[in-house]
Amino acid sequence: MIEAVLTIDDIASANTPALVDYLVEKEIPALMFAVGEHIEKFPEYVVYALQHGMIVGNHSYSHPDFAEISYEEGVCEIEKCEALLDDIYKKAGVERKFRPFRFPYGSKGGENKDKYERYLGNKGFSKVDDRKITGSLWKEKGLDKDIDTLWTFDFAEYRIRPESGFSMDDVMKRVHEGDPENGGMLLEAGTYHIILMHDHEETLAMVPDYYKIMLEHVAENGVTFVKPEFYVNTCEWI
Ligand SMILES: [Zn+2]
Repeated sequence: MIEAVLTIDDIASANTPALVDYLVEKEIPALMFAVGEHIEKFPEYVVYALQHGMIVGNHSYSHPDFAEISYEEGVCEIEKCEALLDDIYKKAGVERKFRPFRFPYGSKGGENKDKYERYLGNKGFSKVDDRKITGSLWKEKGLDKDIDTLWTFDFAEYRIRPESGFSMDDVMKRVHEGDPENGGMLLEAGTYHIILMHDHEETLAMVPDYYKIMLEHVAENGVTFVKPEFYVNTCEWI
């Protein structure tokens, strides 16, 4: 058995309702990370995701690389998105039980990394329960201590762009060979993963139904998607 939490970054897009409908049909509970600017663009689609059982977390306001901005700017990015999320949960009539956060580009803020982790802990952000993750790199890199949500396997389908030379075949290769960066051998029996994919209209324009192709493929190869679980009030982790 292979278990995985599905995380979907950069929502919302024009395709979010169709994506949510597909996840509901397949009974896949997803943790979606929203960009504040995208919440402002498609508020009703974020409401739609929430009302259909998805958990929506914070992926900053304007998706900067946190290693390239000051700590103060970074906190502002997080808090601006938090305010939008509080508001959108209220609009959806859904209780906000969890506050997960993911840095854009998996960049943990460079020299400010420890400061950000302390901030996330003190502000009561939710840590995804990662105790079942099997890959040894997770602990070796200290990712088990962090509050923010990284991943163990990245489809990297966002790299499929005009003339990028990266195709769905390359995505499938990663599925079968694993993601060396975070040590996730996705299809190894008995493993537990946090999988990353994106809600991008640009990818959809290149490969119609890309998310269905990827999710069906991994499901056929033994991956079961499980409900994300969290630690709340994570000060004890600092
Ligand atoms: Zn992102």
